[in-house]
Amino acid sequence: MEAVELSVLAGDKKVTDALNSISDHGGSGVVATSEDAVHVIGVDELLQALRTKGDVALTDVKPSAGDAPQVSVTPMFANQPLESAKMAVVGNLTSKTANLLRTSVTLCRCTRDPTHVWLPDELSQAGRCNLDGAPVDCR
Ligand SMILES: [Zn+2]
Repeated sequence: MEAVELSVLAGDKKVTDALNSISDHGGSGVVATSEDAVHVIGVDELLQALRTKGDVALTDVKPSAGDAPQVSVTPMFANQPLESAKMAVVGNLTSKTANLLRTSVTLCRCTRDPTHVWLPDELSQAGRCNLDGAPVDCR
């Protein structure tokens, strides 16, 4: 079993907040905390939620398939409550899931509407948003 470090966001933060956090901190998932649960949410689930539900709170996003019950989430620094931690260690992952979550992704954001977010290989025209053709900013 393997572990990865992911950023932690409160469950009332939005999908676009989580995508920004992924761009800032690397990896391809986040840990979302709420009063009764902790979920690991992958970039694919975030993009899926953004496209089907809009920029909803993280508690409204279906957690990733890798979020099996045996997955452990602990704050990066001991004695720190998870809710106030910026990063957490997600452990007990299969090496496949760990590799997936560890891999940083480039996200292309529409310069006209920040809720239009694409993976580079999803763009039907390089450098242009699929929905409105506005330039995208990839990082
Ligand atoms: Zn757009």
